[in-house]
Amino acid sequence: MRRGSRRRRPHEPATRPTVGRGRYSVKYIIPFEPGQTVPFRGRPRQIRLDPSLRDPLLLEDDRILLASPAGCSRLVEGWLRHEARLAFGEAVARHAAALGVEPRGIAIRDQKTRWGSASAAGRLNFSWRAVMAPPFVLDYLAAHEVAHLREMNHGPRFWSLCRGLCPETDAAERWLKAEGRGLHRYGREPMGAEG
Ligand SMILES: [Zn+2]
Repeated sequence: MRRGSRRRRPHEPATRPTVGRGRYSVKYIIPFEPGQTVPFRGRPRQIRLDPSLRDPLLLEDDRILLASPAGCSRLVEGWLRHEARLAFGEAVARHAAALGVEPRGIAIRDQKTRWGSASAAGRLNFSWRAVMAPPFVLDYLAAHEVAHLREMNHGPRFWSLCRGLCPETDAAERWLKAEGRGLHRYGREPMGAEG
């Protein structure tokens, strides 16, 4: 399956939080397995085995500890999705309260070309991979989609709302352009080893 610039519709403005162009060669894939280092909330964390662990997974400082190597890819991705749901839930609630809007719901997905989207019905979608980025980036993505509940466009009023909710809007846009697509290297099994 390819991901690339062709999925980006030409009418979309460049400032949309897109994942970027290009596709990734298998050799750059970093699977979620012991020994690998993956980012979480902007900091590198090494995945390590700890058979004495009581829970299947524990985040401890800069280590993600796993009790067993069995099913580790699914386990780590499931944990990241869970953390993404919590972080986006908190950030969306905060920004929505500040703007006086009410989203209809939040879905966490693995969107290939977008970090987030908002439907006309008020549903917000986000990529779980944003939880690997620094917290201010996730906060910006939440602010961006919440601002769309007022302005369904990328005009000056939209950006004014967005920057009002998240003062780090411009820094986050820069981070996503420079680093965002690198987050798509993580967690995919090389050669389809696992579904
Ligand atoms: Zn947008």
